[in-house]
Amino acid sequence: MSNTKYIFVTGGVTSSLGKGIIAASLAKLLQAQDFKVTIQKFDPYINVDPGTLNPYEHGECFVTDDGAETDLDLGHYERFLNVKTSQANNVTTGRIYQSVIEKERRGEFLGKTVQVIPHITNEIKERMQLLGESGEYDIVITEIGGTVGDIESLPYIESVRQLIWDLGKENALVIHLTLIPYLAAAGELKTKPTQHSVKTLMESGISADIIVCRTEHELSTELREKLALFCNVKSESIIQSIDVDTIYDVPLKMRDEGLDKVVLEKLQMTPKKPLDLKPWNVFLDKFKNPKHRIKIGLVGKYVELQDSYKSILESLIHAGAVNETEIEVVSIHSEHLEEGNVAKPLDKLHGLIVAPGFGERGIEGKISAIAHARAHKLPFFGICLGMQMAVIEYARNHVGIPKANSTEMDTDCHEAVIDLMESQKSIVKKGGTMRLGAWDCELQAESKAAAAYQKKTVSERHRHRYEFNNDFADRIFDENFIIAGTNPETGLVEIIEYNDHPWFVGVQFHPEYKSTVSDPHPLFVAFVQASLMQKAKK
Ligand code: GLN
Repeated sequence: MSNTKYIFVTGGVTSSLGKGIIAASLAKLLQAQDFKVTIQKFDPYINVDPGTLNPYEHGECFVTDDGAETDLDLGHYERFLNVKTSQANNVTTGRIYQSVIEKERRGEFLGKTVQVIPHITNEIKERMQLLGESGEYDIVITEIGGTVGDIESLPYIESVRQLIWDLGKENALVIHLTLIPYLAAAGELKTKPTQHSVKTLMESGISADIIVCRTEHELSTELREKLALFCNVKSESIIQSIDVDTIYDVPLKMRDEGLDKVVLEKLQMTPKKPLDLKPWNVFLDKFKNPKHRIKIGLVGKYVELQDSYKSILESLIHAGAVNETEIEVVSIHSEHLEEGNVAKPLDKLHGLIVAPGFGERGIEGKISAIAHARAHKLPFFGICLGMQMAVIEYARNHVGIPKANSTEMDTDCHEAVIDLMESQKSIVKKGGTMRLGAWDCELQAESKAAAAYQKKTVSERHRHRYEFNNDFADRIFDENFIIAGTNPETGLVEIIEYNDHPWFVGVQFHPEYKSTVSDPHPLFVAFVQASLMQKAKK
């Protein structure tokens, strides 16, 4: 057995309290004391992965190097810690059941009735310990999705109960994140919902070791003591998580509250070195004290939901900070652009991103926005579908193929400049079957991309079924519209650029999945620089 210690993070009272950010912030504090830490998320829904969910359901789908379609919290883990996650870091009820049912069909439980306890809980426990048993990590933090008391969370909570028993109290602890609501009419913070949710956990045999309280107002000493008394913890284990302007402040707030200290003490661990958050503070300082300010338009069809483009928004924060630039992201609904004047919403911008997406809705708006950006020399960054639409725009408006389209939008299209990949044509199942995960891309030396990356070959993450149709390469590409990156194995076009322009780059992959606080993505950094120049010109 390895010496790995386990921390479980559960949630109570309401959803959306930010368990992922608390888990990532704690991990950051532990990492800054030289511990090797990873975070995994267990989600109670029955989808095998979030790949088949639309962003309105569960926000963005994050993709790992090994091609797992995962919960967006894994994005926070990677951005905070700068360590890669994988398939093993995100498990859903669907995956657990799928695996148990496959075992049953293979006859692994022959003669036995397969039940939630012990078969499902054993499968959960095995997966909870998978990363820990690799010996790579000192500490594994496991976030349990959902809210304590939900029917669907029960098998996870029971598994945590059993695991703590197996591992021993000194090797495992539970952090319970709750809400302390403020009743404006009474002018008071209320502890009762937290008391109830801690009690619900106790009914399942788990006593929370640390309670992190989301709150809009400071918790007084009396309130902390009251909570401690009713929730069966010491008052130093009541951790206040007050609302902050940026999620990147949360590690500092958690340090001030002593979360890492209480955790280490309970796990009987001593810091390997004094806490060092210098690089984090350098980033925060630049982020909070910008010298410049620009407006970037983000065109998409899910813009009303912040979480849909989480990684893009965070990548802009990272790239903004290194450039000491505050970025105001102007969300533009692609369908609204279809209704009329494109110039009006785009004129005030210094750069334009056209977001990834699926399906036909809003694509004509995206194409009009790209046409405007190309003609008016507005810095443009097209991501996945955004790149595909840039090809269609050039084919229609410059090359003279008015019916150019993608077969995703028009299955009978004769001029399919974007078409289903050969490898996709026989695929009928939707789940986990796209071109996923990390693929190499060789860069054309004389390109904006090569200038940004300062490399010849890069590896980027993918999530798409359609691609540039190479049958059209000779007709479409010219001295101004170039292929700036290709996949060496398959010859697939990965990056296109338009040269008669300050910065016009479209990428088939998703650079946003690889930007972190300590490693902002070179393409986002270069795009922000181009947008800054655009502002200077204006
Ligand atoms: N819908 C497009 C495809 O499947 C683009 C996908 C994306 O933007 N992630 O190829």
